[in-house]
Amino acid sequence: MKKYVEEETWQDDDRRWLAYRAGALHIEDVRLGAVAAAIPTPFYCYSAGAIRSAYMTLSRALTPIDVAICYAVKANSNIAVLRLLAELGCGMDIVSGGELERALAADVPASRIIFSGVGKTRAEIARAIQVGIHQINVESAAEISVVAEVARALGKRAPVAFRVNPDVDAKTHAKITTATKDSKFGIAIGQVPDLYAQVAAVPELEAVGVAVHIGSQIYDMEPFRRAFSAMAELVTEMRGRGLSVPRLDLGGGIGIASGDKPGPDIGRYAAIIAETVGHLGCKLAVEPGRWLVGRAGLL
Ligand SMILES: *Cc1c(COP(=O)(O)O)cnc(C)c1O
Repeated sequence: MKKYVEEETWQDDDRRWLAYRAGALHIEDVRLGAVAAAIPTPFYCYSAGAIRSAYMTLSRALTPIDVAICYAVKANSNIAVLRLLAELGCGMDIVSGGELERALAADVPASRIIFSGVGKTRAEIARAIQVGIHQINVESAAEISVVAEVARALGKRAPVAFRVNPDVDAKTHAKITTATKDSKFGIAIGQVPDLYAQVAAVPELEAVGVAVHIGSQIYDMEPFRRAFSAMAELVTEMRGRGLSVPRLDLGGGIGIASGDKPGPDIGRYAAIIAETVGHLGCKLAVEPGRWLVGRAGLL
């Protein structure tokens, strides 16, 4: 594939990566008809340039506020895609043991991997702890007990962040709305400080912070502002109670352009992060999935 071209304009101009030229569909400089003649069809083809460009756009916007980017592997778990992002310095957000193995196979250091998601098995939790995972985002009081049991059996300590449900409507499709109080995700925000205080006293667990992910395909930035502001208030309240909250994970969900609908302005997204949580001094992370890869490939 063509050498990486550093450009800011990916959201507006991804036709550079996927385009018809002289009536023939191309990805970068590669004519897909030539690929189809050489290998069995159907196949997926991804533009490394488009993925690098998206990553660099987001990374540049977030650098001034020092936010780690952890790609949500469920958006595309192709190991070549993971490797490409890992080489750029990207961490990963995984939701299963299979995704953990794929990330490790792509040479992503465990110290850059966050384990999210409901329904983690004991075996998956054990493997994550054994490889030295950066953080396990716990979804419920019941899961906290399971992680503690698994860590105890291993004689290790597990770094846990609390997935918080801030009861904010992401104003997106109901099936990808994950932070209203009716959703199955996260611990109700009002219960977090007490539960976190309990965990801080459990020797097998290291309470490292709080996390939020309000949904996907979000175009209106206001739900982000509301959710991140709620998290800032929560962190302040927790610290007021003497709790240590070194990390804040803001989740993914940035909408991608499709058809005539433009994607949100990444500069505004970064500004909202800076305005709402920039003053806390937490180590910040985001977990974009679709936005990094969703327009970079074809079947
Ligand atoms: C799906 C998911 C993401 C990524 O969502 P996108 O809309 O693809 O950015 C991030 N974090 C968690 C916990 C998720 O479940």
